[in-house]
This record gives sequence, structure tokens and C-alpha cells, in this order.
Amino acid sequence: MDTNPALPGRSLAGPRTVYNTDHEMFRDQVRRFFERHIVPHHRQWERDGIVPRSVWLEAGAAGLLCPMLSEEYGGAGADFGYSAIIIEEIARTNCTGPGFPLHSDIVVPYIADLATEQRKRDWLPGMARGEIIGAIAMTEPGMGSDLKAMRTTARREGDEYVINGSKTFISNGQLADLVIVCAKTDPSAGRKGISLICVPAGTPGFTKGRNLEKIGLHAQDTSELFFEDVRVPVGNLLGEENRGFSYLIRNLPQERLVIAVRAAMGMEVMLEKTVDYAKERQAFGQPVIDFQHNRFKLADAKAQATMFRVFADHCLALHLRGELTVELAATAKLLGAELQNRLFDDFLQIHGGYGYMAEYEIGRAWADARVGRIYGGSSEIMREIIGRTL
Ligand SMILES: Cc1cc2nc3c(=O)[nH]c(=O)nc-3n(C[C@H](O)[C@H](O)[C@H](O)COP(=O)(O)OP(=O)(O)OC[C@H]3O[C@@H](n4cnc5c(N)ncnc54)[C@H](O)[C@@H]3O)c2cc1C
Repeated sequence: MDTNPALPGRSLAGPRTVYNTDHEMFRDQVRRFFERHIVPHHRQWERDGIVPRSVWLEAGAAGLLCPMLSEEYGGAGADFGYSAIIIEEIARTNCTGPGFPLHSDIVVPYIADLATEQRKRDWLPGMARGEIIGAIAMTEPGMGSDLKAMRTTARREGDEYVINGSKTFISNGQLADLVIVCAKTDPSAGRKGISLICVPAGTPGFTKGRNLEKIGLHAQDTSELFFEDVRVPVGNLLGEENRGFSYLIRNLPQERLVIAVRAAMGMEVMLEKTVDYAKERQAFGQPVIDFQHNRFKLADAKAQATMFRVFADHCLALHLRGELTVELAATAKLLGAELQNRLFDDFLQIHGGYGYMAEYEIGRAWADARVGRIYGGSSEIMREIIGRTL
């Protein structure tokens, strides 16, 4: 292929302008960290169903956690571009186990923006060091897309909240030391009765269920969480009571951009690996890329991945300027996840039986990518969001 996405600053669409040289220097550092601390161990972590805590501490020490957090609380005070580089390196190496983006780019911003000063000082430095691992619990066994139907409640009693309910599919759930729990503080008010409350692991009544067995993302821990008369101080509330839904809406564009950024890099990298494979693999006396069907599939894939790269970088640039809208973030997430799934399926097919073997990266990437159409708001919910703007 004429373009090597593994080279810093390059993409299928040519030179990338969204990053500056400091970003690319940071990419070198991240790349070295992944090559040393993550890539050699990831297959074992997939078998374990979880990554070790030690890699979180190593990532914290290397400055890979919470790049956007202000220096006052132990972060680097950097922009989202630094986070995007970490996300891209996860996609490039296909090492989906460490839930760093969820922690740094989804959980920590809620605390940094909305917690009391005391709680920020209690938690954020430990989160930047990888000592306190974060999770966010919205989904329940009976509801995922329809947040207003949540049944977990937080009843105020004096200066405490008493939380009851259960959550499921929570990423980082086994490792989590601090969980942002979405709960109804006014059960009669639908989405206007939701609050975000931080619950530290070890609080009496808070228990973690089993590490859920998934069809992909095998090294990532995903859990059920149970809350039975869990008491936390009212100081653990994020922002104002009953305003949780509006906070979620405000932060979801960044969560969706995380998924789109990962999809863009994943498509470029897997395309390249598939082209290499198709040039090497022989059938009927010729490389399988010489069959026009395969070549056309790969040509279409290259054209579409190139188009998506341009759009994803556009959204990234908008976000760096604070201008990414809910609608565009939903568009990027919808297109990225859907296209990635289609292309990965074609790439797997071109690998033949080897594509179905776990030892080949495409099979694992295909299974990992499937959830992109479901979490962070499903593709159907993205279409609803876009549809409302028509
Ligand atoms: C690996 C993994 C990790 C996850 N991590 C987290 C996490 O860290 N925290 C967390 O809170 N949640 C997490 N989730 C949950 C995820 O966000 C939900 O699964 C997702 O929001 C969908 O909710 P649901 O599963 O209840 O599906 P449902 O809401 O029951 O939807 C079922 C189907 O109906 C469709 N549908 C629903 N409503 C509409 C509508 N209005 N119009 C058209 N179609 C509709 C959906 O798109 C879907 O296809 C995770 C899930 C997975 C699989």
C-alpha cells in the first residue's frame, strides 16, 4: 500500500493536520509504552479476562492516564488530541483490554467538572496515577438505551444518599475503585430525576458480580454491580441533584468521538494487514489479491476508510476547538462503527479460515468491533439523534 498508517502524521488521506509535533512526540512515547508494557502480554490478558492493576500503575507513571486533567490534580493539562493518540494506539495494536479511554476521557471529566473541591483532591491525583480506576454505571438489566426508565434509586437521608438497585455491562467493573452511579433521586420525574453519585469500592452494600463472559473484548472486564442500602455522603454527588441527564448529554459527544477515532485507525490498520495477507496467500496458483473480487473489495474498503479518516479528523479538530455538536458526534459514531463492522467482515472473509482463528488479529478485531454498534448509544439511537435534526 502506498500509505502506511503506522507512520506518525500519515493516514490514508495523506498527511494529517489535526496533530502538531508535540502530539506526534507523545505518540512515540505511547507507542514505546505499548510495545513494552501491553503488546507482549495482551494475549494472556485475553485468557485472563482482565488486565492486571500493575499496567494501570505503569500507565499512570508514564503519563498515559488523564492527559486532559489539569496539572493541579496530577494530569498534564493537555488537549483531547493526546487522548486521541492513546485511543489510536489501542486501535493500532488491537490491544483493547486496558480501559484507559473510559477512565481518562469519560469518567474523569465528570469528576473534574462536577465534583466538590474536596472530592477532586481525594480522587483525581490517584486516578491520574492509576491507583484509583474509574467506571460509569448507567445501564441496568432492564434498560440501556432508555435512561429515563432506570430503576436504581438514591434516597436522601440527612447528609447521606442511600442507593438501591443494580447495574450491568459495566466496563472496568471488576477493577473499578470508584464508580459513577446514575440513579433516580426523583423517581417521579423521568429523565429530570436522575443524579450522578460516586460510590467507592468497598462501601458496605456495594458488591460486584461476576466478570461477564463476552464474544469479544476478552481482556476487558465487564461486570454486574449491585447496590443494597449503600450509604454515601451527599458530598459524593456530582453537580446538582436531578441534573444527571443533562450532564450525560453534555459529555456523551466525547465518548462517541472516542469510538469514532478508534474505528478510523482500526480500519486503516486492518486494511493494511489484509492487503499484506492477500498478497501472500496463494489460491489457484495466484495471490488471492489478484482475484478481481478481492481486489475490488479492498479498493472499496480503502476508498471508504479514506473518506472516514477525513471525517473523523474533521470531528476531532472541531472537538479540539470545543465545537463538536451532539449531532456530528452521533454521525461520527454511527458511520465509524457501522463501516468498521462491514469492512472487518470483508477483511475476515479475505483471510479465509485463518480469519476465524483467534491467533490472527482480524478475527479478534472483528469480534471486538461488534460492540461499537451497541455501546456508547446504539446505532439506532444515533439515527434517532440525527433524525431529530432533519
Ligand atoms: C462490552 C460492553 C460494555 C459496556 N460498557 C458500559 C459501561 O461502562 N457503562 C454503562 O452504563 N453501560 C455499558 N454498556 C451498556 C451499553 O451502553 C448498552 O448495552 C446499550 O446502551 C444498549 O442498551 P441495551 O443493551 O439495554 O439495549 P436496549 O436498549 O434493550 O435495545 C435493544 C435493541 O433495541 C434498539 N432500540 C432501543 N431503543 C430504540 C429506539 N428508540 N429506536 C430504535 N431502536 C431502539 C437498540 O438499538 C437495540 O438494537 C456496555 C455494553 C457492552 C456490550
